[in-house]
Amino acid sequence: MNVRTRVAPSPTGDPHVGTAYMALFSYCFAKKNGGEFILRIEDTDGDRSSKESEKSIMDALKWLGLDWDEGPGKGGPHEPYRQSQRKVIYEKYAEELLQSGNAFRCFCSKDRLDDLRKTQITEGNTSRYDGACLGLSDEVVAQKLRDRESYVIRMKVPESGTCVVHDELRERIEIAWDQIDMQVLIKADGSPTYHFAVVVDDHLMGITHIIRGEEWINSAPKHILLYQYLGWDMPRLIHMPLLRNPDKSKLSKRKNPTAVGFYKDMGFMPEAVLNYLGMLGWSMPDGEEKFSLDEMVANFDLDRLTLGAPVFDIDKLKWLNGLWLRSLDAAEYELKLATWLRERSELHEVIPLIKERIDIFAEMAPLSGFLFEGMPSLSPDLFESKKLDREDTLKVLQFSLWRLENEKSWSSQSIQDLFSGLAEDMGLKIRDFLAPVFIAISGKSVSPPLFQSMVLLGSDICKARLKHSIGVLGGISKKHLKRLEKSYEEMNRG
Ligand code: GLU
Repeated sequence: MNVRTRVAPSPTGDPHVGTAYMALFSYCFAKKNGGEFILRIEDTDGDRSSKESEKSIMDALKWLGLDWDEGPGKGGPHEPYRQSQRKVIYEKYAEELLQSGNAFRCFCSKDRLDDLRKTQITEGNTSRYDGACLGLSDEVVAQKLRDRESYVIRMKVPESGTCVVHDELRERIEIAWDQIDMQVLIKADGSPTYHFAVVVDDHLMGITHIIRGEEWINSAPKHILLYQYLGWDMPRLIHMPLLRNPDKSKLSKRKNPTAVGFYKDMGFMPEAVLNYLGMLGWSMPDGEEKFSLDEMVANFDLDRLTLGAPVFDIDKLKWLNGLWLRSLDAAEYELKLATWLRERSELHEVIPLIKERIDIFAEMAPLSGFLFEGMPSLSPDLFESKKLDREDTLKVLQFSLWRLENEKSWSSQSIQDLFSGLAEDMGLKIRDFLAPVFIAISGKSVSPPLFQSMVLLGSDICKARLKHSIGVLGGISKKHLKRLEKSYEEMNRG
């Protein structure tokens, strides 16, 4: 069998270490078996997907060395590899399912569906479509179509019995059909849902093994049924355990830096990041902890995958990175360090920031050192001010973080606009507002101009520094965070 695997990220934010984790295992499995590894962009959610995110996902995979054989930028026999460009393909198969009677048009309004969900939940039942449109006659449907009533296409699901899911890493899994919703396949605007597009694309792209996160196990019955309806062979399923925060909750950016770019900017080696991700789900036959991608490929075997809840521990990753760094010879070390320094801050970009502020070169280091630091060393008293109390300072830092998380462009002007808009929304003078942000970013109350410095630092490091400074100020409890979220939303509504 010609093994073909894929990683199928949705470009809706910063490239996540979880995506790198799935990509790594898919890559190793394909390469070990002499097969192909494919990148597919799942951008069916037009509102949340962005080109910037797609680009940074591709940059992150390239930085890690997980090069894809087919996909955006590479081409291949199954182009296009972006779901937003494959609409006609999904329409064709949706039509086929309608014709074979395995799917139906549903004209139910959002209000009706909301009421249905509420009643089902208050009665303690699984929230599930009740099949109201299943029995519509052809004449009624034709009339509704003539009247241009809006509709979605749903798949039919058996009312009783169980679906058996075979996962290569687990015993057989049984899921009762009455727990499975009559999934929407095509939305009212004509675009496909994830569940439909993933089945059509995995089949057409010849994917033989689907390696993805275990959060998708409960969706497998819908997919299995669609493969049956369409008369296609089901690829093998391998659901990987989810990465966790140290407190065992699902890895989240609230508790850990999750953007691959953060690790690049902090000076982690891609080899160490891959090695660490590999270690979280798999082990070398000889138990060696330090291994390269090539070594992982050469020794890769599904039997050595572990199903425990892998904790993403940044200190362990740092330790491993140290091993990697120390194993470099002097020339490689110099090259890597110089590349990192250059990428952190191009000298010609730093000069305009310091030119007016220093008289001799020796004064450069204290002024620009913060550009090369990981997290600046901060103490709560640095944030003390007559204008803002601790509560307001935390609010400024947290609100800035939320705004930056939604910001797609990264220029000195866009950062300035973002902060002046936020200061105004919060009813604060820009100078008072910026004081704590300044300290969070640079660790000092005097530094080169803030916005240009932020551009040089990059958005991942800036966000991590804001988070770090919130921690230095004692952090924000769950209850406090809820309160802040509420007031942030109210402020945004104006
Ligand atoms: N687009 C899905 C995600 O980002 C892919 C899931 C899958 O691999 O099937 O999680």
